[in-house]
Amino acid sequence: MKLGAFEIHPVSDGRFALDGGAMFGVVPKVLWERCCPVDESNRIPLSLTALLIQAHGKRILVDTGMGAKEDGKFRSMFAVERAPTLVESLKRLGLYPEDIDIVINTHLHFDHAGGNTVKAEDGSLRPAFPKAQYFVQRGEFEDAACANERTKASYRRDNFTPLTHLNQWEFLYGDTELLPGVKAIVTAGHTRWHQSIKIESEGQAAFFLGDLIPTVSHLPLPYIMGYDLFPIQTLETKRWVLDRALEEQWLLLFEHDPLIQAGYVRRDEEGKYLLREVTAWQ
Ligand SMILES: [Zn+2]
Repeated sequence: MKLGAFEIHPVSDGRFALDGGAMFGVVPKVLWERCCPVDESNRIPLSLTALLIQAHGKRILVDTGMGAKEDGKFRSMFAVERAPTLVESLKRLGLYPEDIDIVINTHLHFDHAGGNTVKAEDGSLRPAFPKAQYFVQRGEFEDAACANERTKASYRRDNFTPLTHLNQWEFLYGDTELLPGVKAIVTAGHTRWHQSIKIESEGQAAFFLGDLIPTVSHLPLPYIMGYDLFPIQTLETKRWVLDRALEEQWLLLFEHDPLIQAGYVRRDEEGKYLLREVTAWQ
């Protein structure tokens, strides 16, 4: 898809499933199960949709999916189905891992940074994108490296520490324009230093939400994940982003919605946010 002078493409690393209750926090199941039916283990299906941006001759990958390092127990717990894999999805666009110049992680949870590294046959961990510089907020890296009992199940060191030894990390300190029109914006709440990516070219704008609003079903302001570490901050960040997105007509890009990848927000008569899906995407 064209966005002004840039191209943006969803790149799938397959799908997985998470506990429906955890995905909707304090919202009762009777309200969310109409839109999100559960499987036999009370899980709802989610996609792993990263984003490829082609801008200024660079190939920029935002998030890296789940990756292939996890064992069978993990894969069955989260119903991981990597078909296609991220590498296969890139290949459909004519790209190989060594073609990626920049990787940006919204945050370092395993479903966003799992594909940062790969395990070689000798068991060593290597960067999945050998020529790329990897960008994340410094605060997110520190929180991941010093995870606590609540956060450590989501932060798996194999996804980020090997890159430190190879000097492939570039740390960000707040909002940063990485290239003209490609900006990392801190959207705190899910984690303290979670970031979203705003892409702007020739008067058109898109916004890759990450886990700020993981699916279209999470558009209502109080629909906030139980996983969020700072839910009240998520609420304020969501309000700010949705107001801007409505006013300035940003194309919102969803990372985890199993059916819808992009759309524009509008408000109904009661002031509720709804999505006008963009189907020309892909
Ligand atoms: Zn996620």
